[in-house]
Amino acid sequence: MASAENCFPVANGPSQPNFTIKYTKLFINGEFVDAISGKTFETLDPRTGEVIAAVAEGDAADIDKAVRAARQAFDEGPWPRMSGLARGKVLFRYADLIEQHTDELAYLETLDNGKPFLLSKYGDVDVVVKGLRNVAGWADKISGQTYKMDGPYQGMSLYEPYGVTGAIIPWNFPMAMFMMKVGPALAAGNTMVVKPAEQTPLTALYLAALAKEAGLPDGALNVVPGFGPTAGAAIASHMDINKLGFTGSTEVGKIVMEAAAKSNLKPVTLELGGKSPVIICEDADLDVAVDIVNLALFFNMGQCCTAGSRIFVQDTIYDAFVAKAVEKAKKRVVGDPFKPEVEDGPQVDETQFKRILEYIESGKAEGAKLLTGGCAVGNKGYYIEPTIFGDVQDDMKIAREEIFGPVMSVLKFKTLDEAIKRANNTAYGLAAAIVSNDIDVANRFTRSVRAGTVWINCYHVYDHSLPFGGYKTSGFGREQGLHSIHSHMQLKAIITPLKDS
Ligand code: ADP
Repeated sequence: MASAENCFPVANGPSQPNFTIKYTKLFINGEFVDAISGKTFETLDPRTGEVIAAVAEGDAADIDKAVRAARQAFDEGPWPRMSGLARGKVLFRYADLIEQHTDELAYLETLDNGKPFLLSKYGDVDVVVKGLRNVAGWADKISGQTYKMDGPYQGMSLYEPYGVTGAIIPWNFPMAMFMMKVGPALAAGNTMVVKPAEQTPLTALYLAALAKEAGLPDGALNVVPGFGPTAGAAIASHMDINKLGFTGSTEVGKIVMEAAAKSNLKPVTLELGGKSPVIICEDADLDVAVDIVNLALFFNMGQCCTAGSRIFVQDTIYDAFVAKAVEKAKKRVVGDPFKPEVEDGPQVDETQFKRILEYIESGKAEGAKLLTGGCAVGNKGYYIEPTIFGDVQDDMKIAREEIFGPVMSVLKFKTLDEAIKRANNTAYGLAAAIVSNDIDVANRFTRSVRAGTVWINCYHVYDHSLPFGGYKTSGFGREQGLHSIHSHMQLKAIITPLKDS
């Protein structure tokens, strides 16, 4: 391990709610079942590395079984045949049930993922409920167009669901990412096979049980926990899955897209990694800028694909900014995520923990200045101090690669043109932000930066109706609201002769 020295201990004595874990099996055709192989895997508590539960481990055979259930539900079941209004009604009921089970879901999310319980409760569950209600409301408002054609014909465009859709989900926002795919796919009339991340399968299974309780027909939603190269790969290459949504690393996104192309050329939506720039201009209010940057990088322990991880600061305010940013980072409360005062829980698992510490070592080795943090916290679990490097150069590994942890890189710039050029000098293009009180400066930046989301004087502000997705190797396709409904449907053109008109 790169640097496992203990800087300060994690406070003991979690004051967590306690629910029994009800669902640990695969959810196929409306039933919780064992894996065909009989295998299970352990999901671990990132606070301690101890086992929370053994979960059924799906592989290619289980994915195939789930696809057959989803196919039957699509070809013969009521779901795609129901009116949009009727589908919407089930999904609204589903959202109400999720809301009623907020505490259980938030508990499971924090236990499995390590994020602060209050964030799970007031952030993640809220995002799930609002996103689901948004797409439930679209279910009866999906409509095509009519065309008066060049000739005696009338054309119509008709939106249709793809059929069986597959989704592969990451571990950083397990519930939110699950619903970002499941909600629109179902609202559009598709049936689904979903694979949650192996690190965090518990909330997806709970959400599957609630879908059944809400009245979703058997087979319309199937949830198969398992590992990427087995269960995930089986979804990507399945010949009878008609559309694939993937959120995860750019590296795996490429593998998944290749498998999708080589099998049945299923269309894919990819939401991948990022190395998002934040530009702090000299006219910015320093305290506002520091707050924005602190949230941009440290939120969710840095485990956000949109994390603002390259902080470009204008040279005239660099020293003052850095001093305040360090002071603020030092005040962040790291510890047991069930404690209400805690802002940063552990990283999700040992692999991520070690990777982040290696990045910290590489920052030091390449000559970046470690301004605060840099250490593991405590002697069990996967806690890392909020870390800031100053004097970072564009070509350093910590400035180029996605770290997915609480490690901020601060870089200096002189002119806006230079900042824009350097901000765009990355393979990624998921998000970007500028902090400035000059609207012309902000406008120039927003129109020049190659990123799917751009924030002016704020960060990590999302909405269920706004398009979300990346440029360049951060992926393609847009999720959320009507955009995600359309990305789960295909358009058919229908032509008919027009007589006597
Ligand atoms: P991370 O590096 O953040 O864990 P990954 O891209 O590895 O992100 O994982 C995101 C999702 O992709 C997880 O559900 C994981 O199991 C899945 N996955 C990983 N490898 C593959 C693969 N070869 N094929 C399909 N899915 C995969």
